[in-house]
Amino acid sequence: MWGVSTGFWSGETFSAIDRAPDMLSTMIVLSDVWKVRTIFDEHNHELAPAMFSHLLPSHRSMSNGDKAQVDSMKQFGIPTAKIMAYMAGQSGGYGMLRFTKRDLYNYIHGQRLARISDGDAVATISYLEGKANADMTTVARYTRTADDRLGSLFWVDGEMMSDYQLFGDVMAFDSTYRSNKYKKPLVVFSGSNHHKQTTIFGFALLEDEEVRTYRWLLLNLVDVMGEKTPCVVVTDGDKAMRAAIAEVFPAARHRLCGWHLEKNCVQRVKDTEFRKVFKKAMYANFEVEDFEEYWKTAVESLGLQNNSWVQQTYEVKESWATAYLRGTFCAGYRTTSRCEGINAYIKGFLKSTDSILELVHSLDRVVKVYRNNEVTVQFYSTYYSPVLTTGLDSIELFASKLYTRAVFREVKKQIKGVATLLFRGRDSISTTVVYKFSRMGAPGRIHKVLFDPDDKKIQCDCSMWNSEGIPCSHIFCVMKYEGLEQIPDSLILRRWCKDAKDSRRMPVTMRPGDEGRMLRYAALSSATSLVARLGSDEREDFEFAKESIASLIDKLRHRVYERAGGQPGMSGWKAMKDPVVARTKGAPKRKKEFDQCSQPDVRGKRRCCTKCGTPGHTKRTCSGYCARGVSGIGNGVSPTDGNGSHDGSAAASASLPTELGHAYEVI
Ligand SMILES: [Zn+2]
Ligand SMILES: [Zn+2]
Ligand SMILES: [Zn+2]
Repeated sequence: MWGVSTGFWSGETFSAIDRAPDMLSTMIVLSDVWKVRTIFDEHNHELAPAMFSHLLPSHRSMSNGDKAQVDSMKQFGIPTAKIMAYMAGQSGGYGMLRFTKRDLYNYIHGQRLARISDGDAVATISYLEGKANADMTTVARYTRTADDRLGSLFWVDGEMMSDYQLFGDVMAFDSTYRSNKYKKPLVVFSGSNHHKQTTIFGFALLEDEEVRTYRWLLLNLVDVMGEKTPCVVVTDGDKAMRAAIAEVFPAARHRLCGWHLEKNCVQRVKDTEFRKVFKKAMYANFEVEDFEEYWKTAVESLGLQNNSWVQQTYEVKESWATAYLRGTFCAGYRTTSRCEGINAYIKGFLKSTDSILELVHSLDRVVKVYRNNEVTVQFYSTYYSPVLTTGLDSIELFASKLYTRAVFREVKKQIKGVATLLFRGRDSISTTVVYKFSRMGAPGRIHKVLFDPDDKKIQCDCSMWNSEGIPCSHIFCVMKYEGLEQIPDSLILRRWCKDAKDSRRMPVTMRPGDEGRMLRYAALSSATSLVARLGSDEREDFEFAKESIASLIDKLRHRVYERAGGQPGMSGWKAMKDPVVARTKGAPKRKKEFDQCSQPDVRGKRRCCTKCGTPGHTKRTCSGYCARGVSGIGNGVSPTDGNGSHDGSAAASASLPTELGHAYEVI
């Protein structure tokens, strides 16, 4: 390395150049030619000791290997300081590293800028487009603000869709703040799977928290999920959110998240005694009159009648008090830990300085962790059997084979409860038998159970079955008296069974048209990802999986070609074109297509049919004429009418989103 050494300036025509470290030379410039006059064969400075040698600029550089390692660690969200410490430890000390902390930070910052060089929003949309190309069921929808910025963004993948079809009866809707540098609220749709674990249904970044924005989000959710709406929606009580839910899911029961309520209670009511009262009012198994009585006396004795939070909360008691919610199926949402868990867990992956692209990457990792948890628990549920302890062995054995471990624990409590029941009589009304039971210690409360011996139907007037989806101890007691060893089919809720995700029991995939195909694809892709996970650990398993899949593919190919009357073989596959390559500047180009497409529409409504791509009608009103000559699959990444959401017609435009997603030619 050549450099000007300041110690040797001796005149206008003289310059000194230090050719480190072996020799020093003084030169003279004569008509642009440098001539060497003297050579000093010594260093003009102290040599740096060995302990500093790794800091000398000439010795520093990040090798490609270092860079690759940094990139992959960064991908998994490891903080830069820890990457530095890890790599130093790996190479035997900081002195052995060829770069400094500053070099590392500069490198990572440069990579970050390069990734979003076309802008964060464009990079995010491109990333999601890439995902949509790899997995046909990934769907993303976004809006554009009046000044051409990314408004709201909503995205789901195939496994989320198939999980929603199975477990979307109860859906929680949670806003998280400080998850990105634009301060856009992040919405997480989640529910509980058959193991009572959290499962994610989708994510959204919202432009703001207005009712119209939530409405856009929910309408897109319903559209993407094949029109399935939840029965119960759990929220943190945001007013705009509640209004949008009432509009889009009019039949759904609204429930407030217990964890959020408790948190608000701590903030808004200083009386610590009231917190205990509130918790009891929320979770205790009161009858309605008992609840009212308890609340009135407790609030009066604490002098909180005029506290505004207490008043407001009481007004929406139907959304949180167990007394009013009894009989509403809640998929285990009575326990408060779920919301707390998902909030704390997801926040661990997010930073308030993250770009949207980084946020989307981080959430991908969150979903992978949740899915891995499910596979682990599914394994234990399938291959380990619990010890029978209740004394009603045949019923317990049947239940243990049927339910997942988490649900079986609850069912077992009910089977155990049979021992505490007192028999209070048995009557017959025509063909129906009526049993009466009371519990030891509470002789006044009698429960009636109706039993129909012909079609093995059992009904109890306690609301355990309705709210938890499992039979109560009264029902098990009748089974004992009647000698039934198996739980009747009418009392088995599929979503709690070990085989809830078994592809053989997926009626939603039987639906006709594109929607059915989309769901079938989602179902198969979740099944094959399980094959990949289970088959990749051991070499023998891998060989077995590979051979089985190869023979399956062969058989499927024969079926497809026999039906089409063609010849089996790879040649037929040429009919399918390559998917559209994700554009790095997707958003601006899309805007152009968007405009051209909508020009002929005199009303100025920017809509295109998803089936044929022609503006002026929708896929629902399409005549079947296909201008592009392909039958598209309605997915991919697509802008919805962002302008529409500004002039107040969001409902119409969002329910019929414009999809310019990828079209595949179908054989
Ligand atoms: Zn919550
Ligand atoms: Zn009962
Ligand atoms: Zn059409």
